[in-house]
Amino acid sequence: MNDKSVPSHRQAIRHAELDWRADDGDVEAPFSTAYDDVYFSRQDGREETRFVFIDNNDLPQRLATWGEPRPFTIGETGFGTGLNMLCAWACFDENAPAEARLHLISTEKHPLTRDALERAWRSWPQLARQAAALLAQWPPAVAGVHRLQLDDRVILDLHFGDAADCLSRLDGRVDAWFLDGFAPSKNPDMWRPELFTAMATASRPGATFATFTCAGFVRRGLAEAGFRWRKVPGFGRKREMLRGEHAPTAPTAVSPTSRAPSATAATPWFQPPPPRPVDHVAVIGAGIAGTSVAAALARRGSRVTLIDRGGIAAGASGNPQAALYVKMAIEPNLQSRFYLAALLYTQRWLARLDPERRWWSDCGLLQLAGKAGDVERQRRFLAHYDLPPSVVAASAPSMVTALAGVELPRHALHYPLAGWVDPVALCHHLAATSGVEIRRAELKSLRETEAGWQLALGQDSLNVDQVVFATGHASRHWLDGLPIQPVRGQISTMSLARGSGSGTVPSLDRILCAEGYVMPPRDGRLIFGATFSPNDDDDTVRSSDHRRNLEELARMVPTLTESLADRSPAACGGRASVRAASPDKTPYAGPLPEFDRWRQDYAALSKDAKRSFSQPGSHYPGLWMSTAHGSRGMVSAPLCAELIASRLHDEPMPLERELVDHLHPGRRIIADLIRGR
Ligand code: SAM
Repeated sequence: MNDKSVPSHRQAIRHAELDWRADDGDVEAPFSTAYDDVYFSRQDGREETRFVFIDNNDLPQRLATWGEPRPFTIGETGFGTGLNMLCAWACFDENAPAEARLHLISTEKHPLTRDALERAWRSWPQLARQAAALLAQWPPAVAGVHRLQLDDRVILDLHFGDAADCLSRLDGRVDAWFLDGFAPSKNPDMWRPELFTAMATASRPGATFATFTCAGFVRRGLAEAGFRWRKVPGFGRKREMLRGEHAPTAPTAVSPTSRAPSATAATPWFQPPPPRPVDHVAVIGAGIAGTSVAAALARRGSRVTLIDRGGIAAGASGNPQAALYVKMAIEPNLQSRFYLAALLYTQRWLARLDPERRWWSDCGLLQLAGKAGDVERQRRFLAHYDLPPSVVAASAPSMVTALAGVELPRHALHYPLAGWVDPVALCHHLAATSGVEIRRAELKSLRETEAGWQLALGQDSLNVDQVVFATGHASRHWLDGLPIQPVRGQISTMSLARGSGSGTVPSLDRILCAEGYVMPPRDGRLIFGATFSPNDDDDTVRSSDHRRNLEELARMVPTLTESLADRSPAACGGRASVRAASPDKTPYAGPLPEFDRWRQDYAALSKDAKRSFSQPGSHYPGLWMSTAHGSRGMVSAPLCAELIASRLHDEPMPLERELVDHLHPGRRIIADLIRGR
């Protein structure tokens, strides 16, 4: 739970070191110079994958008869070129019923570059469609989980990092394992006991595995972790390989939840509630948090009623332009790891929703160094995170001017993937997802019934299985006991229409931010801001706030301000809204705890922070929330939506377990108890 109990600095990810080799007349194939081994058979890699991993996990038959509402889940060690995963996808397409879904999880310590992947894929024109979907979303080399929506039925979670490490943090369970990786003799580090233990913990009852190797220590490791194995004929020249299933000799408690209970032994309060029916879900609040949850649930087959008294994007999500950006702590911590994952996820998600970039842009962003010590702080930030330049890089003043398109002789951090989104257009797009029904109504009360929840909406009532609150600062009213603070924010806008007398159209190619921000002009309008006033829930526009925004703009980019003909607050338009913030500035995404019960059940923590408990946290059944996104909801809400929809639908989570827990609405109670409050 607390930041010190988990390593917050993840190891930097380095790309694979490759050589390209072709035997006489054979296809060109990548070869790892670091591990001195091949990625796949140069004779016929696709046939090898089919033989070893697909057929020895009986995938064609299992997928053909898959009738569960949750997706069939495959876990792999060593993603490599992705050949195995994409062949599994092709097998799913060929065999599975139309309503089935597939969830792929693969770990990778040294991802290929996009160019290398493309080159490797030239040999497989039969899989060109799958490869194109993968390449379009291929993430940068950043440690952690990257969720890719490959098509409407198929998700791929790439866990960049060491396989044993990633799988021990997996919040999800697997039906079939592809135990791949370089030969155990060339890569003994990967095939260590912790890997087999993590696989066992994350196995669904009856999970199967297949691997090309028969090495003795692999057989022993698998058996010790509770896998039954047997030797079967290998592919091509290989005499034997292993296949088997998870069959622990000691009876283990059958867990009704998507997270294995043993994975939460130290923090039982975060054990998720067991799955409930999810046919009909009400989402309260139609801002970015609510519309993204509604779309994520509907895409998985739930019928969703999206309820808001003000209509779509009427509150804090109603600004005309919002920055896709977060300022991260100088040293990585749980919060900054979440926001980094969320920024990368949102960018991929938007590119899939709106490939033409009609209502968003990945124009990039410059975080300007202004105050004394900022350049040094930025240097330390880069050293601590060690991120690829495609994510963030230092820019010297001359470069900053070139990138910004205006005279700006300052140091900066350049985030090439950041940008802006039109939140209103985005929320409307999400609310139009098939399966989402919009109700403009006010929720008056809700009451638990035998089957779920009954909502009173004016004169009407609505019965649903579960409810998600995405009610921003109004959440205080519904989620009693949840610490939440209103924060007023006002943006200013300046019309730049030629001839209007208010100014010339300045050129600005990137978003600039320091204490405030300014966006590249859109539709003849310049948007800048925003004020930040905690504990103020007034949403009327104030002239004094325009003045503050203008002053900040002038400090940030004087040349731009000078090009404006009228620089007075009276020339500004604007919008004020109230956002919700948590005390630690991380959103709340997860089930609603019974706060008083938690305080009683775990009271002993205040005397002994190390005290162990076995009792899972009690939650109001079927009540969830995605709220307290502060001013960063465009970045955080889409990934939180994915997290909630994944949990409701009993699927693997899109983040490492400690980050899922970091978002849990009950975290504050535990932290307070430990601190003796
Ligand atoms: N399944 C791959 C495919 O379909 O192309 C081939 C896998 S290749 C033989 C082995 C992969 O395991 C490499 O991509 C390598 O970087 C990765 N790997 C090696 N050690 C690892 C570790 N400890 N954790 C995760 N991945 C690892």
